Amino acid sequence: MRLDGRPVSSGPMPEGHTLHRLALDHRKVLAGVRIRSTSPQGRFADEAAELDGQRVDAIEAFGKHLFYRFESGANVHVHLGLYGRFRRSKQPVLPPRGAIRWRIETDDVCLDLSGPTACELLDLEQVSAVHQRLGPDLLRADARADLAWERVSSSRRSIGALLLDQSVLSGVGNVYRAEGLFVAGLHPEIRGDELERRDFTRLWKTLRQQLAKGVKDRRIVTVPPPEGRRARKGERTWVYNQRICKRCEGPVRRWELGSRTMFACDTCQRR
Ligand SMILES: [Zn+2]
Repeated sequence: MRLDGRPVSSGPMPEGHTLHRLALDHRKVLAGVRIRSTSPQGRFADEAAELDGQRVDAIEAFGKHLFYRFESGANVHVHLGLYGRFRRSKQPVLPPRGAIRWRIETDDVCLDLSGPTACELLDLEQVSAVHQRLGPDLLRADARADLAWERVSSSRRSIGALLLDQSVLSGVGNVYRAEGLFVAGLHPEIRGDELERRDFTRLWKTLRQQLAKGVKDRRIVTVPPPEGRRARKGERTWVYNQRICKRCEGPVRRWELGSRTMFACDTCQRR
């Protein structure tokens, strides 16, 4: 399905686990490999031509951003946004169809990027400027909880709004926001400056575990699976997109918070 030539997002906005999963998968096929690089759509044509034939030295995810470093020192910064996606196919690949911004090819695979919010060539200084704008990434081993705590504890905004602010911490989107707060037993409307340090620490650890599981599962599953079978769609979250709380069977309340829909159980999540 296409809308204005852009692929329609098959799900909600990607959260940090999607980008870290992509970085892992792309590293396996691209790291240390000289690639063919083109822009079938033309909007990234000069940049793609500059990278053609170069070796990919490193691929990393930071929050919802991807960075591809090349042997010349050039870096491609990709932000998928709501519509961006990579399609992967085996060689020999079919001629490009649709608006493909960047096509990366090796002898074995082809990766087609379409619909990203950002796909740009940056030097190292510009890459570090993007990093600087982002709060600690929960999925990175070097993530510093104390930096996120400083930003949270000095804010009068609600923790529900703060979790979506990528300059406070990065990688959490709407699903993990609802599920992290639920499992940590915290109400989304608690103000940052009212939150206790030990509650924040519990939330941080919960989100780290949930996101890491998401990288492994390639999807968001925060509820233990039913006995003897895999969780079906609609059984994978405690409160996100639910009408009834999976723990107490009370109503799940939904309202607008930080310009996205928040889901919470007023019984299980204390203020
Ligand atoms: Zn409940």
